[in-house]
Amino acid sequence: MQGRKDYTEKLFISFQLSNRVPKENLYRRLRKTLDLSFLYKDTKELYGNTGNPSIDPVVFFKLLLTGYLENITSDRKLLEHCGMRMDVLYFLGFDIDEDLPWHSTISRTRQLYPTSLFETLFSKVFALCVNSGMVSGHTQAIDSAPIKANASMESVVLKVPATSVESHLKKVSEENPETTKNQDVTTSSVTVTAPEHHLKRVEKHHQNLRDNRVGAVGASHEKAQLLSNKTHYNPHDPDARISVKPGKARKLNYHCSMAVDSAEGVISHIQADFADGRDSQYLTNISLQVQNRLKKNEHVMTDLLADAGYSNGSNYKFLEQRKITGWIPVFGRYKHEIEGFPYNKEKDEYTCPMNKPLPFTSFYTNKDGAVMKNYWASTKDCKACPMKSSCAPNIACRKITRTIYDEQYLRAYSRQQTKRGKQMKKLRQSTVEPVFGSLTQFYGLRKIGVLGKLGAHKVMLMAAIAFNLKKYLKKGGRKPSSGIFEAAIESFQSCQVIFRANILNILNAYHFS
Ligand code: SF4
Repeated sequence: MQGRKDYTEKLFISFQLSNRVPKENLYRRLRKTLDLSFLYKDTKELYGNTGNPSIDPVVFFKLLLTGYLENITSDRKLLEHCGMRMDVLYFLGFDIDEDLPWHSTISRTRQLYPTSLFETLFSKVFALCVNSGMVSGHTQAIDSAPIKANASMESVVLKVPATSVESHLKKVSEENPETTKNQDVTTSSVTVTAPEHHLKRVEKHHQNLRDNRVGAVGASHEKAQLLSNKTHYNPHDPDARISVKPGKARKLNYHCSMAVDSAEGVISHIQADFADGRDSQYLTNISLQVQNRLKKNEHVMTDLLADAGYSNGSNYKFLEQRKITGWIPVFGRYKHEIEGFPYNKEKDEYTCPMNKPLPFTSFYTNKDGAVMKNYWASTKDCKACPMKSSCAPNIACRKITRTIYDEQYLRAYSRQQTKRGKQMKKLRQSTVEPVFGSLTQFYGLRKIGVLGKLGAHKVMLMAAIAFNLKKYLKKGGRKPSSGIFEAAIESFQSCQVIFRANILNILNAYHFS
């Protein structure tokens, strides 16, 4: 017979939320695993003793976690979603007839809580992963990606001095009487806030863009192409910076740096930075933070994997001093040797094809602040040389400029050429890149929904916590030792049941016989 289900709303029902959520449900297991009780103590100082009670800190963090696990970036949508999910309500500790907090409470509480609280939670979840044997510690892979900020390119404005133009001009001429004495300083010349050589680079870049109009959709927009962080900013979110990746449109972004353990892909560190910085300038901070976190969990980092964006002489030196082997390919412009000019380490000099020496003569700091070493041939040798027109065409004698970190670069280059170097490159690609893909596609990190670098850092930490927690639960979600212990208890209990059943059978048989 065909069945037909009619819906009649009941006034009173007999219902228990815990009965409707299966044992293997992610949120049920999460509720059992995650102990957030420390939050009450850590947030006590942030509240007064009078007034209406605030949102429960545990509920707040559970709501945020649910957002990243469900890939929802809007607080309003998150609360709508949570209200319709019985398993999430059970995780949050709300019954089906209880109202969830108002969405603006989430935003205000996110601003109220310090970054250190989010970091404490991240470290606790990381420790859970370490205790369950998911972290090797010795090999960490780092990488970065731009994450879209909650700000539009359409609303960027020109940077202006903090004071009025007249007072700024007066201050500049007072501070630099010699330089400004004979100059006709116009209003437009003080509206930008960058050194002259940076502006020249920007202008050269703009000229290149005008001459070669190619790029992805959006990047070809004239307004987008000619905007620079040196001259423009977004007043809605001044921390968001214009950045672009090859083949992608120019956007206002934050820079997300992440370290991932090579064993099971657990995130060991994540941080938000300004998007106009280079990868290489963040390596020192990332390494120190990862080392400290691993040290607290009784692990030691010995190998660090990164791409050529992190290649930098001072970074190589720093890693060597910390006894970490850096598997970082040297960047494309670095030449490990100068063809026809062998180097003599003992004498610290080069020898040219005409067998003339180019000894070290002086140090030199370039416009970016990097310290270089100059090696000069003698004017007398070069003047009489038949190769001068090809070797030193527009200069009196040949000069070679090398970085002061040449030895560190050479060691990194040699490592990169070995079989292990190639294996490490593959390991880096398979460790950190998929994690970035997962975070942006499935853990709500496609866009930063909040304003400011600190807000972006909290968002990144929560996405990483959700990622690590899910990984932890997939792996069993408990310590291997306690797992064995519980398995033993379960088998003992099942033996007890069988034993009791056998005794009852025997007794029944005896009674009826
Ligand atoms: S030009 Fe000077 S440095 Fe170059 S090959 Fe001749 S002597 Fe050597």
